[in-house]
Amino acid sequence: MVRPYYHRPMSQTALKEEPKSPEDFLAAGHTPMMAQYLTLKEQHPDTLLFYRMGDFYELFFDDAVIAAETLDITLTRRGKSDDTDIPMCGVPFHAYEPYLAKLIRAGHKVAICEQTETPDQAKARAKREGRPASKSLVNREVVRIVTSGTLTEDHLLDARENNYIACLAQTGAETAIAWLELSTGAFYVQPVLPLNLSAVIEAINPKEIVIADTLETNLPDIAGRALTRQPASLFHSANAAKNLQNHLEIQTLESLGEFTRAEITACGVLIDYIDRTQIGHIPYIGPPERITGNATLQIDAATRKSLELTHTIGGEKSGSLLSTIDRTLTGPGARALQACLTAPLTDLGKINKRLDYVQTLIETERTREVLREQIREMPDMQRALGRLSADRGGPRDMAMIRDGLHITENLRGMLQHDQQTRQNLGALITCLESDPAIMDLQDTLTKALKDTPPMLARDGGFIKSGFHPKLDEFLTLRDDSKKIIAALQNEYQKDTSINTLKIKYNNVLGYFIEVPPKQGDTLLNRNETYIHRQTLANAVRFTTGKLADLERDIAIASEKSLALELSIFEGLLEKIITLSSEISLRAYTIANLDMIAGLAHLAIEQSYTRPQIDKTTAFNIREGRHPVVEKALARDSKPFTPNDCRLQDNERLWLLTGPNMAGKSTYLRQNALIAIMAQIGSYVPAANAHIGIVDKIFSRVGASDDLASGRSTFMVEMVETAAILNQATEKSLVILDEIGRGTATFDGLSIAWACVEHLHEVNRSRALFATHYHELTALTTQLDSLSCHSMEVKEWKGEIIFMHKVVSGAADRSYGIHVGKLAGLPKPVIARAQEVLQLLQTGGQSNALQKLADDLPLFNQSQPAPEQTRSELDSFLQILNPDDLSPREALEMIYKIKALATDN
Ligand code: ATP
Repeated sequence: MVRPYYHRPMSQTALKEEPKSPEDFLAAGHTPMMAQYLTLKEQHPDTLLFYRMGDFYELFFDDAVIAAETLDITLTRRGKSDDTDIPMCGVPFHAYEPYLAKLIRAGHKVAICEQTETPDQAKARAKREGRPASKSLVNREVVRIVTSGTLTEDHLLDARENNYIACLAQTGAETAIAWLELSTGAFYVQPVLPLNLSAVIEAINPKEIVIADTLETNLPDIAGRALTRQPASLFHSANAAKNLQNHLEIQTLESLGEFTRAEITACGVLIDYIDRTQIGHIPYIGPPERITGNATLQIDAATRKSLELTHTIGGEKSGSLLSTIDRTLTGPGARALQACLTAPLTDLGKINKRLDYVQTLIETERTREVLREQIREMPDMQRALGRLSADRGGPRDMAMIRDGLHITENLRGMLQHDQQTRQNLGALITCLESDPAIMDLQDTLTKALKDTPPMLARDGGFIKSGFHPKLDEFLTLRDDSKKIIAALQNEYQKDTSINTLKIKYNNVLGYFIEVPPKQGDTLLNRNETYIHRQTLANAVRFTTGKLADLERDIAIASEKSLALELSIFEGLLEKIITLSSEISLRAYTIANLDMIAGLAHLAIEQSYTRPQIDKTTAFNIREGRHPVVEKALARDSKPFTPNDCRLQDNERLWLLTGPNMAGKSTYLRQNALIAIMAQIGSYVPAANAHIGIVDKIFSRVGASDDLASGRSTFMVEMVETAAILNQATEKSLVILDEIGRGTATFDGLSIAWACVEHLHEVNRSRALFATHYHELTALTTQLDSLSCHSMEVKEWKGEIIFMHKVVSGAADRSYGIHVGKLAGLPKPVIARAQEVLQLLQTGGQSNALQKLADDLPLFNQSQPAPEQTRSELDSFLQILNPDDLSPREALEMIYKIKALATDN
């Protein structure tokens, strides 16, 4: 890239030295404005500084070069520094959000610097400080640092996706991760073992991670994520505890429960970072909820990816399990489902409680339908509250709280009215219980706010008439000005007997009386009431004392009404903030209800059944289906063939053989997905399911390169397999598809063989192992709990038909060449492959290989050609002159000869 105006600002070269003051920059020859800019920039070196100048946010120096390139806007220049042009670019203040969003998405942090006084205030200050007004520069301050993990604006966030920021802290031998969502105030912390770090981070999927600058950066678990490094001194546990304590306004952290030092540190540093990026305007963030390591089903990064839980392997949302089962109607409901799916439960009581809720809403059809109709109207109270408590909200956010509380009240009434929901959803209804303070807030907001108020408070116009008598008075004066002016015009027409007299308005004169030139002279001499303002060719303009008073009153009324509206807004804001935790609880409860009602709706729509969950090691699925493949097939009106799976007692480990394309991967994944769905408390796609709670789920399906981290396909496969064999327990569910395919046949077979033995003897997990190494089926004689199954195929007129049915017993062939033919491999290749296969199958391995080598050249004719073909071939060969052929023509000739021989 050409950097025509590249120049490193002095602030960056001086980062590690004494911080410079504006005076230092002035002494170095900078203008006062540039000195102010450079001082602010020095305080925020890792950000792009949006420096407010009138109607624009301007960027200078390197910031301007980076922003102009990222945003594709013009790079200009403004003044000089060290005799070099200062690069500059700007974005309009009134429409800066799309630019901000683009910079954040590109991985930058942006410091927003605002003018904190008006030019008049700056002049007055200069006067007080004994400087001439011409030397006054408006004061500016950074009011917020926008980072990818600290967004709160609706248009910068995905309504249906959580936007977490996390902090990873190590204290002695302990590690913990804390994470929160600034837009909703949800706050969690969890101890984490180094072995599980990657799984935990993948589950949270934070948009930004705060770490100590001493932490190794090349940890594979955090590589590739947006990292914010902070001085290691901030990770001091006592300081962090103080931060947390101050934020929560509590005397001692003991009241929160048992927290390790690492957990406290992670929480405290995170809160401190939020405080510094929000410059004191921390939105509502409740106390951290502690998640214990074994409270959720552990799913590592590779498994999460291969099962396509929230995104497909290609990174799309559509086609993932989440998009297939999501029937929620609101953003908060969708976020609740996403959070549950990324961290399924392992607590039997909690799983069954959620299943009970889903069952209740399945059984109460009418209530469920009305509930969903109401929830559809529910605004995103969580995010509105987040913006209001961060001092970034407006009247529309308040209206969202008003409407949300109103719907909450209706829903509570409805759930209480239905006997079944009253009995079975008691705990949820309690969270929505009437509270006098909430009722009072709801009532005040209803009385105060217009139905659809504007987004921003600054222009006023959002308070209903009748709410505040004084405001009504000002507004009447302001809004009735037209009527009052018309009455005055009438009065003056009568008084002067000039029917053409008009009262008009322009920006220069304000209100004035206008008469034609002839009458103007009469009026000029008439009396002192009419004061001359202006004479034009076609009109003479006057004012009167009364008109001037009226004009002043109207201006004052607008000013006063705006000031009064803003103070009413502040009052309402205070009321809302005081009730943050109550509002937040209601918002979460409705989000949960949306999720539960969505799962109930899904279960009915897709004929899912309630799984039986217990603490055994059962895994007994009857007529299970793959929810995503079933949906894809349904689009083409194709049926999905259900399959059973019974991993228990003497068949804990199933070895699955069968042709390519027969449905092995689908079958493996569907059982893993059924287990995950059951543990989020959802009904499952099966006729019957009995599942003993799974502690960890592992899936190694298909191979992929991880070139970025320098790992080959086979290396990735082995690393993932090693993780499974080292971590899987008797309670785990393991899905292994084609282990050992990426290396030499005997190496691969040996590895697969040893893995099966290890899984069976050491891990003792419930497992499904799909393979094309039919030799492995011999292991049934040695391993008691190994059971062989295969995908059924039927042969018909030389073609094979995939039945997609899992049957007992081992398959004898893989039909790979058949699938190659279906995929369109060239005919000669298929013919040659069939020859090779035959030789390998009949000759024994070493013998066959020798034969193959002897059989060169490749693509030789396999059958003697009949007489006719031979004569055709002979005449063809006679006209062929090998010396005239290019290599390409020679190859084409070979294909032609081969075709002549095989077409016969
Ligand atoms: P390979 O060994 O080549 O990886 P596979 O045996 O793993 O193949 P899948 O990828 O699971 O085969 O399935 C191939 C296709 O068969 C799927 O895309 C789907 O369209 C169809 N299919 C799989 N299972 C079923 C089923 N139970 N009912 C109907 N169609 C199915």
